[in-house]
Amino acid sequence: MTSRIKSNDDTIAAIATPPGHGGIAIIRISGPKSAEYAELIFKSTRDDIKVIEMEPRRLYYGHIVNPYTNDSTDEVLCVFMQAPNSYTGEDIIEIHSHGGFIVPRRILETLFSLGARPANAGEFSLRAFLNGKMDLAQAEAVCDVINARTEEGLKQAELQLKGELSRRIGEFRDTILDIIAEVEAQVDFPEDEIDPIAKDSITRRTTGVISGIENLLGTYEEGRIIKYGVKTAILGKPNVGKSSLLNALLMKERAIVSPLPGTTRDFIEESIDVRGIPLILIDTAGIRHTSDEIEHEGVKLAKEKAVEAELILLVLDGSEELDNDDIEVLRASTNKKAVIIINKSDLGIKLRRDALPSTIRRDYIVEISAKLGSGIEELKDKIRGLLTGAISHTDGSEIMLTELRHKRALEASVHSLKSFLLMLESEESPEFLAIDIRAALDSIGEITGEVTTEEILGRIFSKFCIGK
Ligand code: GDP
Repeated sequence: MTSRIKSNDDTIAAIATPPGHGGIAIIRISGPKSAEYAELIFKSTRDDIKVIEMEPRRLYYGHIVNPYTNDSTDEVLCVFMQAPNSYTGEDIIEIHSHGGFIVPRRILETLFSLGARPANAGEFSLRAFLNGKMDLAQAEAVCDVINARTEEGLKQAELQLKGELSRRIGEFRDTILDIIAEVEAQVDFPEDEIDPIAKDSITRRTTGVISGIENLLGTYEEGRIIKYGVKTAILGKPNVGKSSLLNALLMKERAIVSPLPGTTRDFIEESIDVRGIPLILIDTAGIRHTSDEIEHEGVKLAKEKAVEAELILLVLDGSEELDNDDIEVLRASTNKKAVIIINKSDLGIKLRRDALPSTIRRDYIVEISAKLGSGIEELKDKIRGLLTGAISHTDGSEIMLTELRHKRALEASVHSLKSFLLMLESEESPEFLAIDIRAALDSIGEITGEVTTEEILGRIFSKFCIGK
């Protein structure tokens, strides 16, 4: 349980900005000795003001001074965010130094030499959670905001960060708590079973909360796709226009386009936003039998990629009749979500659709010209439709379930609630009933962190970057 997990009382430090050349870097310190350590290295140019006297949340200009030699290291801005009004709920100091590899590292190492401890991945956010600044679902959303791949993914992460998912979960919790109260009120009655009037009310509420949870569970597939993206393979024999299609989708000339069959041998991974869904594209060499050794390797890899892909964009050359190579490609994508793309429509269509195997879904065939860019919008609609069942974006204002951990917790809760209903029906004693309904509450509580363990927290926060 959360109450047994204590926030450490040591002081941690990390560089919060990504490594590399940049205008500024931010070094973050959190914990009871933040101001004390900063005092030893930061000299404000304003009247030698002490760090502890700085007005909270105001930037002060000054220098970082090596505490052992008194040499000035860098020109910086320093801000003090006093507990509890900070991200972690602890005293936080942030030093804005020049960027690059050397300066921020040197400041950080000085802080370590003074006694600060290197922060673990996500430790600032873990502390924010343990100090009650946000619940677990919100803390997870911090990571999602940083990693969002599309605007729609970002919207979902922001909704979750604002507490929208927690609010929905809170409503389920409140109803379950009411049910528990009703069940427990029956425990003291001498008869060994629940009063029929109370039983009706309990059944109604339980059914209501189950359907509420199931509605939310229904958003998971789309939510997951929007957050994590879909591994997509572009398949087709050489020269049908796979690279050209990739370029048309990317609207940039990033993939190699070559008129020689079989020359796109390297796999290029790019993520593109298709109607709010990140498609993680894997460009593949043409699928066909060949005597060319290297190309053969490419073909083998392409087949493997087809197995790995969740979505296949299968390209055919519409200006030619279907041939055996095409059939082989079509075979590799059997039982997969696939959109069949008939390319080169600008040359006139010779390919007969009735020659396509009957197993191909006719509503997911689209004619395009990768060269002219025509048909690309229709293709995007088909992709979105195939993946989510809806062509257009949702407006993003409704919270979706995006995380497997949340899905599992909700499913476990529904399972307990259903078992509770069965027991209620078979007139089990209230003491017995309380076990299942409490289990439903505990499962729900895992999402927002009312119920958690060190192991769950470790798993969640280790996915964060250092400094967040
Ligand atoms: P890949 O081997 O499947 O990746 O095919 P490429 O994208 O390299 O294209 C092969 C050739 O077909 C190139 O000469 C392209 O310019 C041409 N091509 C690709 N798409 C179209 C199209 O829609 N119309 C026409 N006319 N040519 C195309």
